[in-house]
Amino acid sequence: MGLVVQKFGGSSVATIEKIKNVAGRVMSERDQGNQVVVVVSAMGDLTDDLISLANQIGKSHPEREMDMLLTTGEQQSAALLTMTLVNMGCPAVSLTGWQCGIMTDPVHTKARIAGIKPDRIKKELEQGKVVVVAGFQGISPDGDLTTLGRGGSDTTAVALAAVLKADVCDIYTDVDGVFTADPRVVKEASKLDMISYDEMLELASLGAGVLQPRAVEFAMHYDVTVQVRSSFNLEPGTLVVEVGKMESDRVVSGVAHDLNVAKVALFDVPDKPGIAHAIFMALAEVNINVDMIVQAAMRDGRNDIAFTISKDDLPQALPVVERVCREIGASGTAYGEDLAKVSIVGAGMMSNPGVAAAMFETLAQEGINIHMISTSEIKVSCIVHAHEIERAVRAIHSRFNL
Ligand code: ADP
Ligand code: ASP
Ligand code: MG
Repeated sequence: MGLVVQKFGGSSVATIEKIKNVAGRVMSERDQGNQVVVVVSAMGDLTDDLISLANQIGKSHPEREMDMLLTTGEQQSAALLTMTLVNMGCPAVSLTGWQCGIMTDPVHTKARIAGIKPDRIKKELEQGKVVVVAGFQGISPDGDLTTLGRGGSDTTAVALAAVLKADVCDIYTDVDGVFTADPRVVKEASKLDMISYDEMLELASLGAGVLQPRAVEFAMHYDVTVQVRSSFNLEPGTLVVEVGKMESDRVVSGVAHDLNVAKVALFDVPDKPGIAHAIFMALAEVNINVDMIVQAAMRDGRNDIAFTISKDDLPQALPVVERVCREIGASGTAYGEDLAKVSIVGAGMMSNPGVAAAMFETLAQEGINIHMISTSEIKVSCIVHAHEIERAVRAIHSRFNL
């Protein structure tokens, strides 16, 4: 008997009708003789709706209370799916993250899983039940509810698949798999049959919201076979696998874009050791991830430093940056939110010179100005104006014949 973890995203459980469809898929997996653990997201856009409700109270909230609120979404769908399964004659039980032994660090709203004690899940499976898990949540060392960051149900699913040594972790969503670009933006985007962990990790980190980056990290680390597929048809999806299992190295596998980008700049920063540390340590202390960093050429012993962060982190970052600006004797700060990032990803890039140049040329031909650039062995990213992002993605997608 095998063990399968299935994860159904918000759009797959948006209505009772869709929950019934999910129940059918769960039962057919079980009918094939497998034990099944199902991870669910909140129904439809419920998480966004809950955030809007909180925002009607004010702009900032105790993050502990945000987690208390947001975790309710996943509990609703877990209970409703379980009721549906039981109603259809399938023994099932729903469990919260805490009941599944999912322990996290204490960082509310973007907690990281620290360990999992799956004893309760195993007990329920041994009793022949389907276990339905509320995704996206865990418990902090103090016993408080935490959430794993937006899209975190993917991570719940892959982490459970790792600890339970599942045969496969199927991520069911509203598209047929991982595409060469976001199919909502590029109509011609095509589905990939396979993608390597490294490429998927880059794409996910660069804004391809189809998988949470942490989920891909878990998959890579614990060798979990992940399949991204549609909950609305029976077609095979995209397998996320070790690079060695790939048939060929594509030069460029996909284009990703991200509108959740804010840029912060510090002007006339003294050019001496310890300055970068002072700025970025202060941000790390409040758990803010910095993405691209650019330091301009020195003039008169002073530099400008600019960096990008997630837009969500801007309200928290600005007071920190202003404090550090005073402490280090920089002349001032500025920030911008009307930016976006477009990236190309491909394992074959390492051995093919000229890929970055082709991307820059494409943007130039479109008359799109590049504000910042960053590269790694398998990706090139450019920051451009937000209103030009869709045009940039389409032009680059067509340039690399994806
Ligand atoms: P779920 O609710 O199932 O977790 P998400 O909205 O989080 O679904 O993720 C699926 C969405 O990811 C798709 O509808 C698609 O618009 C978006 N997406 C972005 N980039 C890609 C890509 N490269 N391949 C597939 N989907 C992508
Ligand atoms: N419901 C959460 C979100 O919308 C978690 C998830 O869907 O994975 O981010
Ligand atoms: Mg998602």
